[in-house]
Amino acid sequence: MGNPVLVALDQGTTSSRAIVFDMHGATLASHAIEFPQYYPQPGWVEHDPDDILNTQITALREAVRMSGVDVSDIAAIGITNQRETTLLWEKDTGRCVHNAIVWQCRRTAPYVEKLMAEGKSQLIKEKTGLVPDAYFSGTKLAYLLDTLNLHERAKAGQLCFGTVDTFLAWHLVEGRPHVTDATNAGRTMLFNLHTQQWDPELLDMLNIPAQVLPTVVDSAHVIGNLRPEILGRPIPVAAMAGDQHASLFGQACFTPGMVKNTYGTGCFMLMNTGDVPVESKNGLLTTMAWRLNGQPTYALEGSVFMGGATVQWLRDELKMIQTAAESEQLAESVPDTAGVFLVPAFTGLGAPHWDMYSRGTIVGMTRGTGRAHIVRAALEAICYQSYDLYAAMVADCDGREPVQMNVDGGASANSFMMQFQADIMGIPVVRPVVLETTALGAALLAGIGVGLYASKEEAASMVRPDLTFQPRMDKENRDLALYGWHRAIERAKGWVETR
Ligand code: ADP
Repeated sequence: MGNPVLVALDQGTTSSRAIVFDMHGATLASHAIEFPQYYPQPGWVEHDPDDILNTQITALREAVRMSGVDVSDIAAIGITNQRETTLLWEKDTGRCVHNAIVWQCRRTAPYVEKLMAEGKSQLIKEKTGLVPDAYFSGTKLAYLLDTLNLHERAKAGQLCFGTVDTFLAWHLVEGRPHVTDATNAGRTMLFNLHTQQWDPELLDMLNIPAQVLPTVVDSAHVIGNLRPEILGRPIPVAAMAGDQHASLFGQACFTPGMVKNTYGTGCFMLMNTGDVPVESKNGLLTTMAWRLNGQPTYALEGSVFMGGATVQWLRDELKMIQTAAESEQLAESVPDTAGVFLVPAFTGLGAPHWDMYSRGTIVGMTRGTGRAHIVRAALEAICYQSYDLYAAMVADCDGREPVQMNVDGGASANSFMMQFQADIMGIPVVRPVVLETTALGAALLAGIGVGLYASKEEAASMVRPDLTFQPRMDKENRDLALYGWHRAIERAKGWVETR
């Protein structure tokens, strides 16, 4: 055997990616394949399960081929995935009874409204750490069983439910294990964070028979061997974790108080809270960071709906820029926004504002306002929204401030934004060499799963910081900027009339 390498399968919402890493966390090859999105009705989103599986297998084969490594050098494979997306298949044939219902799909909103009307919100929050919402898998599974009339078959043990990690493991691993990891289980609204088990009361509430559920395992755990026909050899599949959890791990946010923010289409911020699940008083979710050796580590999570998507909007709708990257140069061509604030509340505002009736607005414009000011205000808005999540997390943790924030995701390549983020938060922002921290996290977890690394601390030495953005704004200007932002937020709130 030559130098051992690790492979991550990163099954995302729009593409399936595979990355080959060396043991030191350097990327040897990466390949991603996009697949179609289906929108059968407004607000509904589906994936074809065959697309998920086929693109993932092809991406794996292609990345391994491009890396030039010998298949016998692959020490382990880790899976990370789009969370909450729901699949249901026949145990005998593997045939899915329906397309995958994607996390974004709103079709089960009536289920959630019913649960809320029945006064179940607090129970759900206490047990799962989640705010009841159609995103989570539970109501999607209930919908499939109800609309396809599958309760009898489910009770008879003829059907398997899975999120994407479970679906991939079932198809890729010898012996067809029916397993999920604790981080993915935690996004179903059926899993009890405290007992670390499927919760009978929650199952009852949605009329879901326990027979359809996968076994819950640790995030680093040898599930079995990759089916040999895929790469020509059996290779241990040794980790599974939801994408945001893998990213927190890939950023080596191992100690309580460490926080990461991923700047993609939306932004996802997670803060490690250690071995206690912290209940948010500010509209954040309580979730698992990961589970190792049966021990859960918890996190607080918040998301910004319009992150990099705000930049896409500048490019595609306003045509103010031609490429996302150009926004950086344009923002830096002016010293400030000249008093302009842009609130991208296009689909309402999430944590900590939670106002679905707010809409986008631009305030503070004068006759001298130009394209660069608007673009700069848009980039700053991504940072302000992230700041608001951060402030909520700090408040939930009794005011304890992290020493730094780690960043990743496509839009974190924008150095203007990262500097502004550091300025507005008043703590350093650290960007790693490998921006694909989700995949790196899955690879590191797999390395731990097969014992290639003795501990997570040893694995963490593979995570290398690239650039640190030190805060440069003084407190007075910071307070002034945040004051302006919060005034702008008030203008955006409640815009849609409900009368
Ligand atoms: P996702 O995983 O959600 O598809 P990515 O991590 O690939 O997202 O990041 C893509 C997003 O980042 C897009 O919304 C894009 O507009 C934005 N983006 C990419 N590069 C830049 C940049 N240099 N500056 C600002 N935004 C960027």
